[in-house]
Amino acid sequence: MTQPTERVFSGIQPTGDIHIGNYLGAIKKWVEISERYDSIFCIVDDHAITVDYNPAKLPRMVFEAALTGMACGLDPQKCTLFVQSHVPEHVELTWLFNTVTPLGSLFRMTQFKEKSRNALYKAIAKKEGEAQSSALYQIKSLGDATVKQLTALQPDLTALEPEGQPDEALIARINDGLGGLMQKLQVGLGVSEASAALFDYPVLQAADILLYKATLVPVGEDQEQHLELCREVAERFNRKFGDVFPQVHRIPGEAPRILGLDGKQKMSKSLDNHIGVLDEPKVIQKKLASAFTDPQRIRRSDPGRPEICNIFSLHRYFTTEGKREELEQGCRAGTIGCFDCKKELAGNIITAFEPIRNRADTFRQNPQLVIDALEAGRARSSEIASQTIGEVHQLLGLGRRALGQMQK
Ligand code: SF4
Repeated sequence: MTQPTERVFSGIQPTGDIHIGNYLGAIKKWVEISERYDSIFCIVDDHAITVDYNPAKLPRMVFEAALTGMACGLDPQKCTLFVQSHVPEHVELTWLFNTVTPLGSLFRMTQFKEKSRNALYKAIAKKEGEAQSSALYQIKSLGDATVKQLTALQPDLTALEPEGQPDEALIARINDGLGGLMQKLQVGLGVSEASAALFDYPVLQAADILLYKATLVPVGEDQEQHLELCREVAERFNRKFGDVFPQVHRIPGEAPRILGLDGKQKMSKSLDNHIGVLDEPKVIQKKLASAFTDPQRIRRSDPGRPEICNIFSLHRYFTTEGKREELEQGCRAGTIGCFDCKKELAGNIITAFEPIRNRADTFRQNPQLVIDALEAGRARSSEIASQTIGEVHQLLGLGRRALGQMQK
């Protein structure tokens, strides 16, 4: 493999079923990138365990992600493909980065707020009857307690004299009170259901990238906040201990946001609104048949609005321009039915993914090809990772070598 100078890092979750959104938003781009850069791609199983998951199924999901990635065109001769937990330095660097990451920056992460809010809602929705009411009562009383806490702080705040002598006990009381309140106000009550690992997720992401001193990441604008944290962590580390980590930038270009078949939310396996890259033709046809379209089209002759129809958006990636124009005109004029429009899309998706399905079959018959590719990826990643950790240990005074070099 020739090694271009700039290094790219990216990761994908082992969801077990790579769908059109993953393919168009990540894997297809990775294949193009691996032609131009030193590309390191990772199946992020350490990230996957920050939410509820099934340990018995995880290895299969990791394998499927690797197999599908390779079937989609990721060539182990042109990129490094490996599994995050096979290189334990990711977790080690996360811990070391924790020592320079301000809590305030983590509290600002909107993805954590969203995920912890979802976790809270899921936990409540799972309960029924009395158990659900009691969970809601608990939230209410937590909210009431927070408001009371805020009111109770007022006398201490009034007593604090900025010009006078610092009163240790008073400052401690204000600190404890405000600390608890700020946490609740910044992340919401959902934090009680979220794990510390979910909170630390962006630091693990920073470690993923910086462990390889990658300078480029192919992520969408929605990841800009996490990328900003990655830069902050690198800068803080460099300032405190020495210049080790580079500035990381997003590879410019739009990552398409693919909506699911419900036409409302981002395509996702967990929302069951997806078409898998390896879905059988019949499954693709069936899923598309019930997909959401323009709700104003009830009869075939009703004029449609392709600009608000997700089926038409998907045509953009699978259908020729000429055919799209024809479909658009037919939809607006009410001369084609949604059934025909979906049938055309299903046919084009099936044709586009046929070579991928065939390659996946080959890998399924020879799973060792996937295992070997991941092992080669692990070997190369480990080599770079252990060099970086060695450098970091040296600067932080950690590790066995540091003992040998201790000052008298
Ligand atoms: S004809 Fe096609 S673009 Fe128009 S509403 Fe139906 S599915 Fe959507």
